[in-house]
Amino acid sequence: MLHVAVVGSGPSGVYSAQGLVQRSGPPDIRVDVLDRLPCPYGLVRYGVAPDHEKIKSLQNNLRTVLENERVRFLGGVQVGPGGVPVARLRELYHAVVYCVGAATDRHLGVPGEDLPGSWSATEFVSWYSAHPDSVTDGFVAGARSAVVIGIGNVAVDVTRILARGAPELNPTDMPQAALSALAASEVTEISMVGRRGPSQARFTTKELRELGSLPEADVVVDQAELALDPAYLDPSGLPAAQRRNVEVLRGWAAAAPLGRPRRIRPRFFLRPVELLADGGRVGAVRFERTVPDGEGGVTGTGRFEEIEAQLVLRSVGYRGVPLDGLPFDPGRGTVPQLAGRVLRDGVVSPGEYVAGWIKRGPTGVIGTNRPCAKETVTSLLEDAPALVRREVVEDPLAALLADGVRPVEWAGWQAIERAEAELGAELGRGVVKLPDWDALWTAARTARS
Ligand code: NAP
Repeated sequence: MLHVAVVGSGPSGVYSAQGLVQRSGPPDIRVDVLDRLPCPYGLVRYGVAPDHEKIKSLQNNLRTVLENERVRFLGGVQVGPGGVPVARLRELYHAVVYCVGAATDRHLGVPGEDLPGSWSATEFVSWYSAHPDSVTDGFVAGARSAVVIGIGNVAVDVTRILARGAPELNPTDMPQAALSALAASEVTEISMVGRRGPSQARFTTKELRELGSLPEADVVVDQAELALDPAYLDPSGLPAAQRRNVEVLRGWAAAAPLGRPRRIRPRFFLRPVELLADGGRVGAVRFERTVPDGEGGVTGTGRFEEIEAQLVLRSVGYRGVPLDGLPFDPGRGTVPQLAGRVLRDGVVSPGEYVAGWIKRGPTGVIGTNRPCAKETVTSLLEDAPALVRREVVEDPLAALLADGVRPVEWAGWQAIERAEAELGAELGRGVVKLPDWDALWTAARTARS
């Protein structure tokens, strides 16, 4: 029997578990999937926007893996300082696969970045996704204009959520406090600003196009600004994905606004240089106009522009954080690895693996994690005959319990799901997520008593 711990129950963790238990032949493999939260599914639960029900329904596929008889979900287990040390996990399991994602956000490094009213998109996403670490409701209060910095898919997500009205948000599983705050929002201008041009934007066409289908928002683009990008005028040489983005923007440029209550303004060739204060909070963002440098990058022009904003969401990408006891490459924000095998000082460390964003950086869509996890699992299975020779305890869970660890097992998670259905019924909505640690622990405990 080969005992494997997978740390993290997001897509890369669950796909890794799936790859391990799906294959037949010796050795028999048992997988414990650990997560710091009492709830599984990682960014599918706490990152995919609540109005993207179809992507969220991927949870049903992940669920079948976690309900496999050879897989155990152990939620509420912190790995690292204050929890189970990396070295202890290595003692208990023949192999450990770290699928811990990229837990923090990149910084802009410009003055005013930390002014009140300026948040990372990650903080905003955590709030409307009911992440229990989210601590404030004050995002949109007092704001009329918002600037979203960055033009990736997260920027599109937060722009869309800001632009949606209460009737569109009500059917989602968004926590009640976020729904109430967004329903009362007076934000009418939302600028989504890229430092490069339309043909270099990171968003995908499906996500971009969706902005044009929101019932309460017009998309307003400036044809002259778009035309700073030579590929906007002649997109024929662009790869298909970029060409489609440009075509969507050209369509908006040709259409007249319909006078809807909110306006989404995709902006380009503006690089943020400073967040400006007004009355103790952010009041505007100062940008430098850029121009294409002919090699896919941009150069500054020395001309500046300010966009009013009482709410700024910095959406410039995620970043991995080091896990105590594991090597870390601070330049890339990932764990050094070769085909998923963790490298310590450039040498493969037996029994330690990575998959997902902590392996390859914060890129790609959920499906990208399938081949990523597959590569790691293939390495692990190649190593299995050697790994299984090391003696470990018969039941790692019993050893963890003896260490004082109190995991939320599958029944505890199911109790949380029931509590969320009950809360939704009380509020006259569908499922509504529990937004804080207390509520999650209380619900999980009902499964134990
Ligand atoms: P991203 O795709 O890497 O986009 C980051 C954006 O921030 C880019 O526009 C980048 O511009 C900009 N940026 C970076 N540093 C900047 C700076 N200093 N000043 C101004 N702009 C800066 O990251 P993301 O949006 O966080 O998404 C992460 C991953 O999750 C992506 O693979 C994304 O596709 C995926 N995702 C998918 C979905 C979906 O499928 N619906 C939803 C959400 C996220 P440059 O290009 O110029 O660097």
